[in-house]
Amino acid sequence: MEHFWTSGPSDKNKAMVEYLQQYGIIKSKKVAEVMEAIDRGLFVPAGNPPYVDSPMQIGYNATISAPHMHATCLELLKEHLQPGMHALDVGSGTGYLTACFAMMVGPEGRAVGVEHIPELVTSSIENIKKSAAASLLKEGSLSVHVTDGRLGWPELAPYDAIHVGAAAPEIPQPLVEQLKPGGRMVIPVGTLFQDLKVVDKKLDGSINVRSETSVRYVPLTSRAAQLHNY
Ligand code: SAH
Repeated sequence: MEHFWTSGPSDKNKAMVEYLQQYGIIKSKKVAEVMEAIDRGLFVPAGNPPYVDSPMQIGYNATISAPHMHATCLELLKEHLQPGMHALDVGSGTGYLTACFAMMVGPEGRAVGVEHIPELVTSSIENIKKSAAASLLKEGSLSVHVTDGRLGWPELAPYDAIHVGAAAPEIPQPLVEQLKPGGRMVIPVGTLFQDLKVVDKKLDGSINVRSETSVRYVPLTSRAAQLHNY
């Protein structure tokens, strides 16, 4: 029986992680540990059930992805999120995955979020400050910037890992250029029908693209197009 004094947010976050492990979505200890450390409840706007396996509205026609999508992307990228590596999170939204990346690459690495809605960048920084990644933000290995993510963030390129949290009609060339040889990008591609693509840049610079699964993300677009009708 669950007692009210043992059912704080962290317990619910742990239960969410256990559920994702049970269904084989979280496969590794590394991903389980980071999703346990970064409490999703700190990133989902008040009034939404944060630990339910579903995307949630975060305002500005954006959503926080469902926990199983975050887990899938972390599993796909985990070898490219080793301590000391560089990671870019395009369309960082709530900052949840940026915080996870920062925990994985550690204080010697760099985790950068880029997002084109300034209000979301501000709230994501507030969320991160409450999370286990707060010290990484303070010390500068984690940062979030307002910019058009289709251009990437050349200052800290090349990246071992690039995650794109919004669906692009096609893979943006600047992001391919900013991927390190040996690095991996995970990006939803398509409009109505979308595939989560895994883009590997081999050591000789050649590119291999495969489809992981069908997905439904908000579009990677201009700020004006996103806020139209908002
Ligand atoms: N990974 C985020 C996903 C947020 S939804 C999370 O789980 O919280 C996708 C995000 O991409 C939105 O916040 C949206 O504002 C942003 N976005 C869309 N087009 C963009 C662009 N061209 N540049 C930067 N961010 C963009």
